[in-house]
Amino acid sequence: MPKQYSIERVRDIGIIAHIDAGKTTVTERILFYTGISHKMGEVHEGKAIMDWMEQERERGITITSAATTCFWTPSYYRVGVTDTDKLDSIKDKHEHQINIIDTPGHIDFTVEVKRSLRILDGAVAVFDGVAGVEPQSETNWRYADEYKVPRICFINKMDRAGANFKRSFELIKERLSSNAVLIQLPIGAEENFKGVIDLLTQEAFKFEGENGEEMKKIEIPSNMKEEVEKARKELIEKIAENDEKLFEKYLDGKEIPFNELKDILRKAVIDIEIIPVMTGSALKNKGVQLLLDAIVDYLPAPTDLPPVKGFNFDHGEEERRSEDKEPVAALAFKLASDPYIGNLTYFRLYSGVVKKGSYLLNTTENKQERISRILRMHANHREEIDEMHAGDLGAIVGLKSTTTGDTLADPDHPIILENIVFPDPVISIRVEPKTKIDQEKMGVSLRKLGDEDPTFQVSVDHDTNEVIIAGMGELHLNVIVDRLRREFGVEVEVGRPQVTYRETIKSEAVGEGKYIRQSGGRGQYGHALIKVEPLERGTGFEFINAIKSGAIPHEFISPVEKGIKEAMSKGLYAGYPITDCKVTLYDGSFHEVDSSDNAFKIAGSMAFQDAAKKAGVTLIEPIMKVQVIIPDEFLGDVTGSINAKRGQIKSMEGRERVKVVEALIPLAELFGYSTELRSATQGRGTFNMEFSYYAIIPDNIAKELAGE
Ligand code: GDP
Repeated sequence: MPKQYSIERVRDIGIIAHIDAGKTTVTERILFYTGISHKMGEVHEGKAIMDWMEQERERGITITSAATTCFWTPSYYRVGVTDTDKLDSIKDKHEHQINIIDTPGHIDFTVEVKRSLRILDGAVAVFDGVAGVEPQSETNWRYADEYKVPRICFINKMDRAGANFKRSFELIKERLSSNAVLIQLPIGAEENFKGVIDLLTQEAFKFEGENGEEMKKIEIPSNMKEEVEKARKELIEKIAENDEKLFEKYLDGKEIPFNELKDILRKAVIDIEIIPVMTGSALKNKGVQLLLDAIVDYLPAPTDLPPVKGFNFDHGEEERRSEDKEPVAALAFKLASDPYIGNLTYFRLYSGVVKKGSYLLNTTENKQERISRILRMHANHREEIDEMHAGDLGAIVGLKSTTTGDTLADPDHPIILENIVFPDPVISIRVEPKTKIDQEKMGVSLRKLGDEDPTFQVSVDHDTNEVIIAGMGELHLNVIVDRLRREFGVEVEVGRPQVTYRETIKSEAVGEGKYIRQSGGRGQYGHALIKVEPLERGTGFEFINAIKSGAIPHEFISPVEKGIKEAMSKGLYAGYPITDCKVTLYDGSFHEVDSSDNAFKIAGSMAFQDAAKKAGVTLIEPIMKVQVIIPDEFLGDVTGSINAKRGQIKSMEGRERVKVVEALIPLAELFGYSTELRSATQGRGTFNMEFSYYAIIPDNIAKELAGE
């Protein structure tokens, strides 16, 4: 029976980083250290770690899971304790469960980043101590701001030539957050990087052993005393600012007890008033144990955060606290298929207890689901568990109707949690299997990829029978095609990328659809009157049934809606689907004998076409938010080209020798932009983009597109 940790001792965290900053290495080291501290008595931690690392290397550690669970007892309780019984009792009291949620490193998978930020409670942001804050780490950081995620910064790679702690810290403060505060200082740098000093406890540690795996307490080097004092003063002042009483004591020059400082620091980190900055070298095993201590000490437990909000059809807005005794509310955040087990649905349990063999309601789809098996993923094994408690994360095996973003809830207390909003795909390409064998495998493979990724869609062009895949950017689709080849062994030819245009209506109008055929035998009779109204961008479709006194019998309402949807999917301007439209069915008539589902479907479709024509239909296109980073001297060329692309420059910022330009540009103008930018800036410019919104296309361009 697995141990159950009280929820105060659970941390649901992610590690966010710019690609190459060391996210994988940090995660790997975390799993090494937590693995040994959980499994073994660490009488001699250094040797134990080396043995364990050897074994793991042979076995090949796996950290590919969407959520990996590990356990950590802060080293300040543990290290140096040699009595096994005592160690066990320390673990009983102080061991924490840390669930690490995988976050993608690449910025083009914005949606994946957002989806992981939505379900984690805290994050470690890893920086490269040489490169400092890279432009793209800023984007992830801003998302973390948006989702109000408490953070710890870890300046990694202090052993590398060119590592500069001070500069990296200044960059974090300047570009990311003025709330960043040092809680450590490094001892030495580059090949002389030896260890770190904890500013709060004023303890120094160095890391010895062949691989730096042995953490030892040492004296603060005498030449650093002054620097430590100064940095500590700044830290304490910043902590004191977060508590009135503490601040008075501080102003009076009184010594503040360590525990008080630590408690207020924890609270301030959770409120994102302070972002503590630490350092080390994951590769050289320096500083990772202290990072784990800080995750336990400063990042929130689920109970430290406000209750999760949701919606109930009877009561409107509702909340669930992170407690076992609340009704179950869980959010499915990732689907994956495992070759041995089958379909896995990763979920975060916000409240209640999920039991194996029970039933939950998928409130998003209104379908019952049986919870046949619950798994917890560890670094190198999976564990089957009988129940999962509030605040925890895991995977359910074999759910039938649940997709990413759906809520699973107690059937007696249904709630729909705020969904993760996935934008519609903005770009598509045609894919054609190379051989007959490829063709056979392609359908299933694409479906699997689509199940995993809600921003990736597959469809078939009814006119040409070609398979079209659609996603969030050129790179997104390239990665999909690459995965098809590598993971599924399917070779495909791809077409030119196309923008996914949409159509929408310009104003309000009413329309009538009458489908009446009465020529001998049984006739056809369907008749509907509707009103169409434009909706806000991104809303999609809304259908209101306002039929009173049975002008159309109940059973024919849904066929009318079907007919409307069908007409919308075909479009009226240039054959693109119509979106952002509200339709109200307000009147109609029927015939006792001749009315049928089919007749009302056709009437619905006719009514929509009539109304939409009167309202006026126009084309809309995806607009991307683009960030371009270039050396100063190219600014003129780059802004000129943005203007030529119908772009709108939103901001321009200068930083040491580089300029950062933010602009809104139609996606249609951005194909091949990375090549263009590279050649315009001698390879020194970079850019990233994300979908922002759909906008009406200027008339002349829309006419051209419709002509095509
Ligand atoms: P990710 O892309 O963020 O997951 O980064 P990785 O963990 O794969 O690291 C990228 C590269 O940096 C790899 O070659 C690592 O070996 C190296 N690396 C990671 N951490 C350190 C470190 O602390 N010091 C040094 N010198 N290299 C590191």
